[in-house]
Amino acid sequence: MCIFCDIINGKAKSYKIYENKSTLAFLDIYPISYGHILVIPKKHYENIYSMDNEILTEVIKTVKTVTELLKEKLGINDVNIINSNGRIANQTVFHYHMHVIPRRENDNLDFIDEWWVNKYIKINDTNFNEIMNKLKN
Ligand code: 5GP
Ligand code: ZN
Repeated sequence: MCIFCDIINGKAKSYKIYENKSTLAFLDIYPISYGHILVIPKKHYENIYSMDNEILTEVIKTVKTVTELLKEKLGINDVNIINSNGRIANQTVFHYHMHVIPRRENDNLDFIDEWWVNKYIKINDTNFNEIMNKLKN
Protein backbone atom coordinates (compact mmCIF):
# COMPACT_ATOMS: atom_id res chain seq x y z
CA MET A 1 0.00 0.00 0.00
CA CYS A 2 1.21 3.49 -0.89
CA ILE A 3 -0.24 6.70 0.55
CA PHE A 4 0.06 8.57 -2.76
CA CYS A 5 -1.68 5.73 -4.64
CA ASP A 6 -4.45 6.03 -2.04
CA ILE A 7 -4.68 9.76 -2.75
CA ILE A 8 -5.02 8.99 -6.47
CA ASN A 9 -7.67 6.30 -6.01
CA GLY A 10 -9.60 8.48 -3.56
CA LYS A 11 -9.08 6.33 -0.44
CA ALA A 12 -7.05 9.12 1.21
CA LYS A 13 -7.96 12.80 1.43
CA SER A 14 -5.89 15.42 -0.36
CA TYR A 15 -6.08 19.05 -1.43
CA LYS A 16 -5.86 18.78 -5.20
CA ILE A 17 -4.58 21.75 -7.16
CA TYR A 18 -4.36 20.41 -10.69
CA GLU A 19 -4.64 17.10 -12.50
CA ASN A 20 -4.56 15.65 -15.97
CA LYS A 21 -4.59 12.15 -17.45
CA SER A 22 -1.24 11.04 -16.04
CA THR A 23 -0.27 13.44 -13.23
CA LEU A 24 -1.64 15.03 -10.06
CA ALA A 25 -0.59 18.13 -8.09
CA PHE A 26 -1.73 18.46 -4.47
CA LEU A 27 -0.75 20.26 -1.27
CA ASP A 28 1.98 18.70 0.87
CA ILE A 29 0.40 17.84 4.24
CA TYR A 30 3.51 19.04 6.13
CA PRO A 31 4.32 22.16 4.07
CA ILE A 32 7.63 23.90 4.61
CA SER A 33 6.24 27.01 2.97
CA TYR A 34 2.78 28.43 2.19
CA GLY A 35 1.76 26.77 -1.09
CA HIS A 36 4.18 23.79 -0.93
CA ILE A 37 2.93 21.41 -3.61
CA LEU A 38 3.75 17.83 -4.63
CA VAL A 39 3.50 16.65 -8.23
CA ILE A 40 3.20 12.90 -8.84
CA PRO A 41 2.54 10.47 -11.67
CA LYS A 42 -0.83 8.74 -11.28
CA LYS A 43 0.88 5.40 -11.92
CA HIS A 44 3.13 4.11 -9.15
CA TYR A 45 6.87 4.44 -9.81
CA GLU A 46 9.22 4.24 -6.85
CA ASN A 47 11.83 6.77 -7.95
CA ILE A 48 13.84 8.27 -10.82
CA TYR A 49 15.42 4.90 -11.62
CA SER A 50 12.12 3.22 -12.42
CA MET A 51 10.37 6.26 -13.89
CA ASP A 52 9.09 6.03 -17.43
CA ASN A 53 10.63 8.81 -19.57
CA GLU A 54 7.35 9.94 -21.11
CA ILE A 55 5.66 10.12 -17.73
CA LEU A 56 8.66 12.01 -16.37
CA THR A 57 8.10 14.56 -19.11
CA GLU A 58 4.45 14.83 -18.11
CA VAL A 59 5.44 15.32 -14.45
CA ILE A 60 7.85 18.17 -15.19
CA LYS A 61 5.24 19.79 -17.44
CA THR A 62 2.77 19.69 -14.56
CA VAL A 63 5.46 21.16 -12.30
CA LYS A 64 5.70 24.07 -14.74
CA THR A 65 1.92 24.49 -14.74
CA VAL A 66 2.03 24.58 -10.93
CA THR A 67 4.73 27.27 -10.93
CA GLU A 68 2.54 29.31 -13.27
CA LEU A 69 -0.46 28.88 -10.94
CA LEU A 70 1.67 29.97 -7.97
CA LYS A 71 2.82 33.01 -9.92
CA GLU A 72 -0.63 34.03 -11.13
CA LYS A 73 -2.60 33.27 -7.97
CA LEU A 74 -0.09 33.76 -5.14
CA GLY A 75 2.37 36.17 -6.74
CA ILE A 76 5.27 33.75 -6.33
CA ASN A 77 8.28 34.45 -8.55
CA ASP A 78 10.84 32.24 -6.78
CA VAL A 79 10.62 28.50 -6.33
CA ASN A 80 12.74 25.47 -5.44
CA ILE A 81 11.93 22.23 -7.24
CA ILE A 82 13.24 19.26 -5.28
CA ASN A 83 13.11 15.52 -5.89
CA SER A 84 14.66 12.99 -3.50
CA ASN A 85 15.46 9.45 -4.57
CA GLY A 86 16.30 6.74 -2.08
CA ARG A 87 16.55 6.54 1.71
CA ILE A 88 19.98 8.16 1.96
CA ALA A 89 18.66 11.09 -0.07
CA ASN A 90 15.80 11.43 2.46
CA GLN A 91 13.05 10.02 0.28
CA THR A 92 10.28 9.06 2.71
CA VAL A 93 7.37 8.31 0.36
CA PHE A 94 8.43 5.80 -2.26
CA HIS A 95 6.10 7.00 -5.00
CA TYR A 96 7.97 9.37 -7.32
CA HIS A 97 7.25 13.02 -6.54
CA MET A 98 8.59 16.50 -7.11
CA HIS A 99 8.33 19.17 -4.44
CA VAL A 100 7.44 22.66 -5.62
CA ILE A 101 8.43 25.02 -2.81
CA PRO A 102 7.46 28.70 -3.07
CA ARG A 103 10.18 31.03 -1.80
CA ARG A 104 9.67 34.46 -0.26
CA GLU A 105 12.08 37.11 1.01
CA ASN A 106 13.32 36.25 4.54
CA ASP A 107 11.38 32.98 4.61
CA ASN A 108 13.97 31.33 6.88
CA LEU A 109 14.30 28.29 4.63
CA ASP A 110 18.04 28.71 5.00
CA PHE A 111 18.63 24.98 5.06
CA ILE A 112 17.77 24.82 1.36
CA ASP A 113 20.08 27.72 0.54
CA GLU A 114 22.86 26.30 2.70
CA TRP A 115 23.05 23.24 0.47
CA TRP A 116 24.69 25.47 -2.09
CA VAL A 117 26.41 28.08 0.03
CA ASN A 118 29.83 27.19 1.47
CA LYS A 119 29.05 23.48 1.44
CA TYR A 120 31.08 22.46 -1.55
CA ILE A 121 33.65 19.70 -1.17
CA LYS A 122 37.35 20.30 -1.80
CA ILE A 123 38.19 18.97 -5.23
CA ASN A 124 41.11 19.46 -7.59
CA ASP A 125 41.71 19.18 -11.33
CA THR A 126 42.62 15.47 -11.05
CA ASN A 127 39.38 14.77 -9.22
CA PHE A 128 37.34 16.68 -11.79
CA ASN A 129 38.98 14.76 -14.62
CA GLU A 130 38.52 11.44 -12.83
CA ILE A 131 34.82 12.07 -12.27
CA MET A 132 34.31 13.33 -15.81
CA ASN A 133 36.07 10.32 -17.32
CA LYS A 134 34.07 7.88 -15.20
CA LEU A 135 30.73 9.47 -16.05
CA LYS A 136 30.91 10.70 -19.60
CA ASN A 137 29.56 8.56 -22.40
P1 5GP B 1 10.05 13.03 0.56
O1 5GP B 1 10.70 13.16 1.90
O2 5GP B 1 9.79 11.58 0.20
O3 5GP B 1 10.76 13.76 -0.53
O4 5GP B 1 8.67 13.78 0.69
C1 5GP B 1 7.47 13.18 1.06
C2 5GP B 1 6.51 14.30 1.30
O5 5GP B 1 5.19 13.76 1.35
C3 5GP B 1 6.74 15.03 2.63
O6 5GP B 1 6.98 16.41 2.38
C4 5GP B 1 5.45 14.82 3.40
O7 5GP B 1 5.05 15.97 4.10
C5 5GP B 1 4.46 14.45 2.31
N1 5GP B 1 3.40 13.56 2.76
C6 5GP B 1 3.56 12.41 3.47
N2 5GP B 1 2.36 11.84 3.67
C7 5GP B 1 1.44 12.63 3.08
C8 5GP B 1 0.03 12.57 2.95
O8 5GP B 1 -0.63 11.65 3.43
N3 5GP B 1 -0.58 13.57 2.27
C9 5GP B 1 0.13 14.60 1.71
N4 5GP B 1 -0.57 15.54 1.06
N5 5GP B 1 1.45 14.70 1.82
C10 5GP B 1 2.11 13.73 2.49
ZN1 ZN C 1 2.08 4.74 -5.10
